[in-house]
Amino acid sequence: MARFTGPVCRICRRENQKLFLKGDRCYTEKCAFERRGYPPGQHGQGRIKFSEYGLQLREKQKIKRTYGLVEKQFRQVFEKADRAKGITGSNLLSMLERRLDNVTYRSGFANSRAEARQLVRHGHFLVNGQSVNVPSYLVKKGDLVEVREKSKAVARIGEAVESVKRREIPQWLELDGAAKKTKIRDLPARDDITAPMEERLVVELYSK
Ligand code: SF4
Repeated sequence: MARFTGPVCRICRRENQKLFLKGDRCYTEKCAFERRGYPPGQHGQGRIKFSEYGLQLREKQKIKRTYGLVEKQFRQVFEKADRAKGITGSNLLSMLERRLDNVTYRSGFANSRAEARQLVRHGHFLVNGQSVNVPSYLVKKGDLVEVREKSKAVARIGEAVESVKRREIPQWLELDGAAKKTKIRDLPARDDITAPMEERLVVELYSK
C-alpha cells in the first residue's frame, strides 16, 4: 500500500501546525516545528498569501497527511462520506477517526498513526475477538478493539501505553489501559475532533 516516506516534520512545517506524526518526539523540544515554525524551503520565512484555491488545497493536504493517507485513499473516503446521510465534511472526519489504525493510536496502543498502521498490518489487534489487519477498517458503535494476547508483550505497544498519559483519550472511546482494550462507546461526532480542521474547505475543493 502506498504511503508517504519522506521527512514528516517538513509536513508540519508546511501545514503550519503540529500534526504529531512522530510520536514521543513531538512532545519534546526536539520537535522541528517548535524550533523552526515556518514552512521549509528558500522562501519559507517570507510572507505567503494564499488564494482561495490555495487555502482549500492546504487544508485538504493537512487533513489527509494527519491521517497518513495518500490522495487516492483520501478521495475514496471523501466519496463515501459524500454518499452517506448527513453533512459531508463531518462524515469525512468521522470516517477518518473510525479507521482502525486511528482508533488504536487514539487508544494509546501506538505512538503515532504510522506506527499504529504497521501494528494493525502485523495482526496485533482483534476487533470483537477476530483478528483484523486492515488499517482502513471502520469500527462501529459497540465494537471492542483489543491487543491480541500474544502481542501484549510487544515492547512498542507497552511503551506506547506508558506514554499515552501525554495525550487525551477521546470521549467516544472507553479505554481499559491495563487490559489493553478499548470499547467504541459512540461514533465520533464533529465536536469530538478537537484538532483544528476546516473540513468545509475540503468539500469546497472537491466540489469544483
Ligand atoms: Fe510535527 Fe512531531 Fe515533527 Fe514536531 S516532531 S514537526 S509535531 S512530526
